[in-house]
Amino acid sequence: MKPGPRQIRLIMELRAEGITDPDVLGAIERTPREEFVPEQFRIQAYDNTALPIGQGQTISQPFIVGLMTQALELFSRAKVLEIGTGCGYQAAVLSQLCRRVYTIERHRTLARAAIKRLQVLGYSNVTTMIGDGAKGWPEQAPFDCIIATAAAPLEVPQELFDQLADGGILVAPIGRSPMDQHLWRYRKSGDQIAKERLCAVRFVPLVRD
Ligand code: SAH
Repeated sequence: MKPGPRQIRLIMELRAEGITDPDVLGAIERTPREEFVPEQFRIQAYDNTALPIGQGQTISQPFIVGLMTQALELFSRAKVLEIGTGCGYQAAVLSQLCRRVYTIERHRTLARAAIKRLQVLGYSNVTTMIGDGAKGWPEQAPFDCIIATAAAPLEVPQELFDQLADGGILVAPIGRSPMDQHLWRYRKSGDQIAKERLCAVRFVPLVRD
């Protein structure tokens, strides 16, 4: 489908804000965000803002989706794990830039809706599981890239580092209150994890069951 004027404006805005990777911009441009938001927010689907998706959760701001996707340094053979499927939008963007996305959502209603939506829209290389994403998905590990879209209060759960491939990248928001949260990028190299702070963010909390 050809992008409309609102979509084109959004892509220009993301580029101006520093999302410069053409593959990432292309994936966002091809993803129909209006299909991922509730009916009443469709008119705002291509605004650069987070929007409610029900159950007190939100679809991330397109800039943050772009930033996190770009930070993961995806490649076509990559196996990716996402924590917090939500409406499935971030997973849909990722799926166009890697081999397979495994995504975990603890909220049954959101997960079921996302599974259906991703299937209808034809994102066939996304596999969704209902459960606690903080435990990762050991049966499918190791992952080349891991992305968390809900914020852990203090640190990334050790299970996720354990399931990251050598040389892999993990991107996650960390911080107890939404007023004091940052996005971090971690690179695993042997036993070492190098960390880098990217920017201030506001994510819903990672809930442990
Ligand atoms: N990536 C999503 C944004 C999701 S908002 C999108 O593109 O729409 C964060 C999501 O993380 C919420 O849906 C919330 O239910 C989920 N979540 C919170 N804690 C979780 C956990 N421990 N395991 C799996 N999902 C979790």
